[in-house]
Amino acid sequence: MLRDVGPPLFDEATIHRRLGEMAAQITSDYHGQALTVLAVMNGALLFAADLLRRVTLPLQLECLRAASYHGATESSGTVEFPDGFWPELRGRHVLVVDDILDTGLTLHALSRRIRHASPASVATCVLLRKSKPRTVEVEATYVGFEIQDQFVVGYGLDFRGHYRHLPFIATLRQEVLTTSR
Ligand code: 5GP
Ligand code: MG
Repeated sequence: MLRDVGPPLFDEATIHRRLGEMAAQITSDYHGQALTVLAVMNGALLFAADLLRRVTLPLQLECLRAASYHGATESSGTVEFPDGFWPELRGRHVLVVDDILDTGLTLHALSRRIRHASPASVATCVLLRKSKPRTVEVEATYVGFEIQDQFVVGYGLDFRGHYRHLPFIATLRQEVLTTSR
């Protein structure tokens, strides 16, 4: 399996160091307030787990699913929230945690949905942001790392359900991307 991936773009130590900085920033920005975190599954699972244990604020964690990729490496263009369940967000400071800002469709749709619930504030936090034009206008409040427009896996990010558990972020070798299995 490790033969499928290129050398890490960000190794475990680098990721954890950056998470420490991001958590310190979030803790300072929300000083004296309580956070409601919405972590987008499955991609943000590892990121949220490692980030949030470094945040020293009163905090509620909710996980939700957003589906915009369907097993491929290209966004489908629509975003669905298949859970049907939404936590109470009225008057809360909401922080959305997602793995990556790519087309922007997911964060855009989520932010709009959350604003309908009358929160006190909405901010967004992603581990990775691709340097490319967005399909829709959306910005992330907190960004771990900027990357080129390339397909990456690991640390929560998958290719057809695989590689999410890798403790680092890497590109997939071209043969893997083009071989269907
Ligand atoms: P969006 O295009 O809506 O900004 O991102 C949608 C979702 O596509 C992300 O949350 C992530 O799950 C997936 N995605 C986008 N770029 C990549 C990538 O480079 N690698 C992987 N594994 N997933 C990606
Ligand atoms: Mg995702």
